[in-house]
Amino acid sequence: MAATVAGEAACGICGGGTLEEMADYRVLRRVTSDCRAWPAGGRLGVCRACGAVQKPADDAFLADIDAIYKSYTIYHQAAGAEQAVFEQSSGLPASRSVRLLETFRDRAGLKSSGRMLDVGCGNGATIRAFGQVAPGWTKAGTEFDGKYRAEVESIPNTESLHVGSVQEVPGTFDVITMIHVLEHIVDPVDVLTTLRGKLASGGLLLIEVPHHPANPFELLIADHRSHFTADSLVRALSAAGYEIVSVAEDWIPKELSVVARPARAAVPAPSLGDVTAARQRIAGSLAWLRSTAEQLRRLGADAPLGLFGTSIAGTWLAAEVGDAIAFFVDEDPNRVGRTYLGKPVHAPADVPAGSRVFVGLPPAVAAGICGRLARPGVTFLPPA
Ligand SMILES: [Zn+2]
Repeated sequence: MAATVAGEAACGICGGGTLEEMADYRVLRRVTSDCRAWPAGGRLGVCRACGAVQKPADDAFLADIDAIYKSYTIYHQAAGAEQAVFEQSSGLPASRSVRLLETFRDRAGLKSSGRMLDVGCGNGATIRAFGQVAPGWTKAGTEFDGKYRAEVESIPNTESLHVGSVQEVPGTFDVITMIHVLEHIVDPVDVLTTLRGKLASGGLLLIEVPHHPANPFELLIADHRSHFTADSLVRALSAAGYEIVSVAEDWIPKELSVVARPARAAVPAPSLGDVTAARQRIAGSLAWLRSTAEQLRRLGADAPLGLFGTSIAGTWLAAEVGDAIAFFVDEDPNRVGRTYLGKPVHAPADVPAGSRVFVGLPPAVAAGICGRLARPGVTFLPPA
């Protein structure tokens, strides 16, 4: 079900197409990137020329992001501690930033010293992790306000926090990182072009963004302007004058990790993406989200019902089913023992016998979790 976006909004990636709206999106509730429920009414479009998936940057979107960022709190479910990533096989937690940066360091062959900049550094999780995996480097961060200044500046070998435009940060950098930032930016090509001018000769840009083909819940995040695939991210980087060093879907589950460097010569535009396939994939993802919420609703109240996860998916599903949920289940020790949305958060081992736990996550992830956590007396249910 597609219709024309009013005003024929232009694509923020190729600049040459207009957006075709996925009309089914407007009726879906949304979630903010800091995991708060957000009302329905957003608009999602697919570029008619290149197939890039994005929200039109219209007045309604700009008003949404303004309201969301004014009240933003990162990792509130764990009082500020960074979200853990879990090994699918062992279930052992590891800091997401450390995992990502170790992989980057080893694959890119980082030298033993240099100067790095983290754009949109928040409370300094990436800077802190970079210091851990590359101790000889000096580090710097930018943010749009000074809320976390003291926290960031307390990290060893870190410059004072730069507040405001990246353009005003003095000097150049051997590495620039942008971890879960580019998807928020209203004009990503413009910002990538600015960053190119801040890279030293031979410098590398590391970009980490969510990957919606592996995680349909990503489409529900109200403050994400772009929903990248490898194709649309490479297209944006090429338009900004970069050549691609590597594109990976497996450095971090459900995320896209791209390393690029300033191109030595003019970069030809990549051939245009498959627009029909992009539209079909989004329509399929939106249908899957609706049916997953419906499946949870149908589980009803025959036995105590828990919901696995306290991040984007858990927050959205809990809003969809209201009070049907008795408790949450989470493997992150920073979240266990707290309450979330007024319900207790149990570790998997502490789920009361006789309960059912709905693992409302992308099927491949849910299947692994259900297999790993299965035990007598508790039923872990993946989405269909
Ligand atoms: Zn486009």
